[in-house]
Amino acid sequence: MKTRIYQADEAIQPCGALLRAGELVCFPTETVYGLGANALDPAAVAKIFRVKNRPADNPLIAHICDPQMLEQTADSISPEMRKLAEKFWPGPLTIILPRGKKIPAIVSAGLSTVAVRCPEHPVALALIRAAGVPVVAPSANLSGRPSPTCLEHCLNDLTGKVAAIIDGGPCAIGLESTVVAPLGGKKVRILRPGGITPSMLEEAGFEAELDPAILKPVEKGQVVSSPGMLHRHYAPMAPMTIVTGDPEAVCAAIQKKLGPEVWVLAFDEYLDRFPQAVSFGSEKDPLSQSNALFSALRRFDTLPCKQIYAMYPAGDGVGLAVRNRLLRAASFQMISAERL
Ligand code: AMP
Ligand code: MG
Repeated sequence: MKTRIYQADEAIQPCGALLRAGELVCFPTETVYGLGANALDPAAVAKIFRVKNRPADNPLIAHICDPQMLEQTADSISPEMRKLAEKFWPGPLTIILPRGKKIPAIVSAGLSTVAVRCPEHPVALALIRAAGVPVVAPSANLSGRPSPTCLEHCLNDLTGKVAAIIDGGPCAIGLESTVVAPLGGKKVRILRPGGITPSMLEEAGFEAELDPAILKPVEKGQVVSSPGMLHRHYAPMAPMTIVTGDPEAVCAAIQKKLGPEVWVLAFDEYLDRFPQAVSFGSEKDPLSQSNALFSALRRFDTLPCKQIYAMYPAGDGVGLAVRNRLLRAASFQMISAERL
């Protein structure tokens, strides 16, 4: 299939029509690029699973552009979850809600719930509006690869496999949305951390608890609230080990392990300590880390790299999401500087 690349300003009407016709379109959001399909068309949704090679038990997020579309997507929404949506939409928050009758089961991998989000990106919002239907959109990468945060990443994974890709420049956050499930009243469980942080939820009057799978591997046979947590994710081809401890001690420990095919994922403050290092943003700025992570992971795959050592973010604010993705990319391989 020929993949057309569109600049954002000329993309909206033709790409909206493609979505309505059952085709796949990659588009930018503030989190990562999405691989979009008409959420009401089971054949179009099935294409997403095929093209990404996504396991059929990993449900998709339905993206909407306004409150009216929410009514087509979810049913029996509690007043508290409506408040949550009002407070954070458009934005990087996905809410698990009872699945609406029009949404086919394949969207939710058979679950009775559906994940819904209204993205905060003018191109995404205009595209969904032009399509006139909710748009399911997982990250626009092949399953298992790091999520795409710019046009080049989408081209690498999906050229020839989708009808169109819209270039919207680099994504503002660079990590996927926060996913929350209601626990009754104003309580929610964070299934996946993202740009909306636990303290932002709490400041808005919600009580947020963290799912244990966020910073720990899921045991075989353990029941999880978010099927996506079971799958290997974000991994570069070379094995990656996270080294924890005081940054100076971490640098000294990694320096002893350097060799021709060893690369380091280092904060900007320490890049000059290593002959072969890729930037992980600034030690003090979690948003710069979330911007850098997926690009860095993809970059390692283009380098003659057999082992990666990564510094470990402090984990405040969006840094919790950075930790979560980094741990998965490293298959939870983590060691303290003294023991490396
Ligand atoms: P992605 O589309 O790759 O950003 O991943 C979507 C994430 O949302 C995955 O971790 C899914 O497991 C999670 N998710 C989607 N729908 C549901 C649902 N109905 N219940 C729980 N988690 C969901
Ligand atoms: Mg994904």
